[in-house]
Amino acid sequence: MRRWILWLLVAALVLAGCSTVQRAKVHQMTYLDLFDTVTYISRYTDDPEGFQKEADEIHESLMEYHRLFDIYHDYDGLNNLKTINDHAGIAPVKVDPRILSMLADCRGYYEATDGAVNVAMGSVLKLWHDARSDAVSNPSGAKLPDRAALEAAKEHCSWDTVILDEAAGTVYLSDPQQRLDVGAIAKGWALQRVAEELPAGILINLGGNVCATGPKKGENTPWIIGVHDPKDQSSYLCTLNLMTGSAVTSGDYQRFFTVNGQNYHHIIDPQTGMPSAYWRSVTILSDDSGLADALSTALFVMDRDRGQTLLNRYGAEAMWVDDQGNCFYSDGLTAYLQQEK
Ligand code: ADP
Ligand code: MG
Repeated sequence: MRRWILWLLVAALVLAGCSTVQRAKVHQMTYLDLFDTVTYISRYTDDPEGFQKEADEIHESLMEYHRLFDIYHDYDGLNNLKTINDHAGIAPVKVDPRILSMLADCRGYYEATDGAVNVAMGSVLKLWHDARSDAVSNPSGAKLPDRAALEAAKEHCSWDTVILDEAAGTVYLSDPQQRLDVGAIAKGWALQRVAEELPAGILINLGGNVCATGPKKGENTPWIIGVHDPKDQSSYLCTLNLMTGSAVTSGDYQRFFTVNGQNYHHIIDPQTGMPSAYWRSVTILSDDSGLADALSTALFVMDRDRGQTLLNRYGAEAMWVDDQGNCFYSDGLTAYLQQEK
């Protein structure tokens, strides 16, 4: 396992707050083996050894979810999402109750967003994932997924063929060509479950899904969260105050590949089967990290009015960034703004 232990006074993605009132140092641990992204766990403390142990335990809890929700790897003695996918059209798979619970929430988000966030469209997402992987290993040969293959895959994204049997504890994809891909929701959902068990004063950044369990220890001051500028990731468009709850960003600027000078990113509009063009990034603020993750993807593939309707329904807030670099805020978000660029 590759693990970097960094003791930093100022984290890369979490800016120090008002330094004059800091009574303890912020310590941070970094992990590279969760959900195919980078994880930072931070806490203000005078007990770095105690914190290291605490962070390792948090990492271990997140790792359990990583294995359960993994669609690429098998693990000895574990039925995970890959097992479900591998058994599509063959047989129901007995799974950990957390998988059933997560998928039931995913179905709820699918219904609430009119299909904008659909973890049952793994067959479409796989074509984009494979095209991106091929492009990364061979940029000059980069090509788009085949249009006919995309259209065919779109026929296998229905929730009618996702059979969640709570009583039996099984999941069955009755369509042999259907696949699940929970990349849009799993990180936030797992983070929420883990964070609910933690004491106050911890901040976890799981690949842009940021969750605070309460204000910095020993101070009543919020964590300061930077929202990246999609045009220049070394700078922030604004910073947000976060006492407790989650800030989750979906953006087009970290995972993409280029064909004929045009970038193709990883958030797909289920209507078209193509990367969505509404926004460069959408950031959601919510008490629930799973909800925030689902909404960040959903709002990314819809206009602002539809997005605002969803925010109203769930009591969440959002910041949208368009391709001109304009920022739009939901009414309640401005209360969290610490600083604008
Ligand atoms: P990230 O995971 O990069 O933080 P998101 O939360 O928006 O960003 O999730 C993007 C991932 O979700 C993609 O890599 C893909 O696996 C999947 N995905 C892309 N578009 C959709 C969509 N409309 N509905 C459900 N899942 C999607
Ligand atoms: Mg998401």
